[in-house]
Amino acid sequence: MTSARDAAAAVVDPEIRVITIDELGILRAVDEEPGTGRVVVTITPTYTGCPAMDVIREDIRRALATAGHPDAEVRTVYHPAWSTDWISDAGRAKLAAAGIAPPASRGDDTVVPLTLAVRCPRCGSPETTQISRFGSTACKALWRCRSCSEPFDHLKAL
Ligand SMILES: [Zn+2]
Repeated sequence: MTSARDAAAAVVDPEIRVITIDELGILRAVDEEPGTGRVVVTITPTYTGCPAMDVIREDIRRALATAGHPDAEVRTVYHPAWSTDWISDAGRAKLAAAGIAPPASRGDDTVVPLTLAVRCPRCGSPETTQISRFGSTACKALWRCRSCSEPFDHLKAL
């Protein structure tokens, strides 16, 4: 039987299908009650108002049921608020490979505006411009590379 933790961690983000909710940092905790086998999953939403959270809750319950944990509850916790810093290194690499520019870590030089830190995920050029504040979803902005002229989605940093 797949552990409840592994089953929940393998759920992919419905909008960015290359990355799991664990890699995104949405998955906060998976607790299994010893007596009953009841599983309580705690998640923190990425962007307020992202409709994906309903889908994620549903996907987690389905994944747990498939893994042999039919009695599951998904709790949503808003504090502390999710930050793009919670995206794991593996997650950032997957985002880049999918053509989505990973957000700059807030640990980086905070004097430089984030807009200057957006590199083209295809050719790595820093010569990029924002075309639209909203890309394919409200959580992403649409950018274009001035070196290779390719448009790309940039996950907004929070
Ligand atoms: Zn480029």
